[in-house]
Amino acid sequence: MWRLRMSLGISEAFDLRPDYIISVIKDTRAKLVGFQFPEGLKRKGPELAKKVEKATGAEIIISGDPCFGACDLDRTLLDHVDILFHFGHAELEDIRLSNKVYFIETRSSVDVLHVIEKAVPELKGQKIGLITTVQHVHKLPDVCGVLERMGKTCVIGRGDSRIAYAGQVLGCNFSAARDEDCDEYLYIGSGDFHPLGVALSTKKRVLAADPFSGEVREVDPSRILRQRSAVIAKSLDAQVFGIIVSSKNGQKRMELASSLKELAKKHGKESHLILIDLVTPDQLLQFKVDAFVNTACPRLAIDEVGRFPAPMLTPQEFEIVLGEREWEKLVLDEITEEPV
Ligand code: SF4
Repeated sequence: MWRLRMSLGISEAFDLRPDYIISVIKDTRAKLVGFQFPEGLKRKGPELAKKVEKATGAEIIISGDPCFGACDLDRTLLDHVDILFHFGHAELEDIRLSNKVYFIETRSSVDVLHVIEKAVPELKGQKIGLITTVQHVHKLPDVCGVLERMGKTCVIGRGDSRIAYAGQVLGCNFSAARDEDCDEYLYIGSGDFHPLGVALSTKKRVLAADPFSGEVREVDPSRILRQRSAVIAKSLDAQVFGIIVSSKNGQKRMELASSLKELAKKHGKESHLILIDLVTPDQLLQFKVDAFVNTACPRLAIDEVGRFPAPMLTPQEFEIVLGEREWEKLVLDEITEEPV
C-alpha cells in the first residue's frame, strides 16, 4: 500500500482503534510503545499518543521516518520498544518480522454502496471481479450483494500468500485479481495505481469507483504505457546499469537483483548492485550509470518517472531492453509468490 488519502479530513474516516490499542498495552504490560503511521495519517500521531499515554501510563515513541507500506516496518524503533503498532496496512503474510508488531489496518467507515449503485450501469460484463485496498475490504460482501441485486455475478479472488484478505490488492501485488476468471473488474477506492495495475496485469477492463469523491471512471492504461515505452527507448543504448536492491524487509529482492546482474553479463553489459533503504532521486545522484533497474518497491519506477538521474527500468522492462521479453508481454512489476 502506498499512501492513504492525505486531504484534510479524510483520515477522520479511518478507524485508528484506540480502545483496542489501550487493551493490548494493558494486556502485554508494555511500558515503551512504538507508533508507525503512513504519511497520510502521521498528523494523527500526537493526538492518539496523548490519549493512549493517559489511559495506560506507557510511553509512546512515534516513528518520524517515511512509511509507505507494511513492507517498511521501522526496525530501529522496533528494537527500542516493547511493542509496535503499525497503522494503515495489513500484515504481509510472507514477511512476519516479529510478534511484537500489531497491525492497525485503519478500515474506512465511508459508505461505498452509493458509488457502487452509480457504477453498476457502467459495467459491460456479467461476471464482475471485485478488488479493493485493505481500507474497504470489509465492505466487499455488501458490494457483492448490491451487484447481485442488480443482476450481476460477482467473484472475489483470494490472492497469494502476501495478501491478507480476499479481493485485496497492493501496489505491488495484483494476484487477487488474477485468481478468479471474470469479464471485467470493479475497483473500490481512490487513486489510479491499483486499478491501472490490475488492467495491465489482466488486460481486462477496470472500472474504478471512488467512495470519497463519488466518481466512477474507466481506467486507461495508455498513458502509463507511453511513459514506459519512452523509458525503455532511452535505455536501449545503455551499457552500464545500476541495479537497485532495497534493504527494507518486505521489498528486498536480492535473488532477483543477482539474476538480473547475470542477465546483464550474458548480454555484455556492465551492472552494479546498489543496496539502499529509502530510494529517492537525490540518493542516486552520485551513481554515474546509463540506466537503473529497480527491484525495490515496484511503484517507484512508475510514480517517480522522469525524476531519477537516469532512466529507471522495472525488471520486466530491463528484459525488454536486453531482448529477453517482447514488448507485448510488458506487465507492471509485482512482488508475488510466482514471478510475473
Ligand atoms: S513494496 Fe508493495 S507494500 Fe511496499 S510500499 Fe511498495 S507497493 Fe506498497
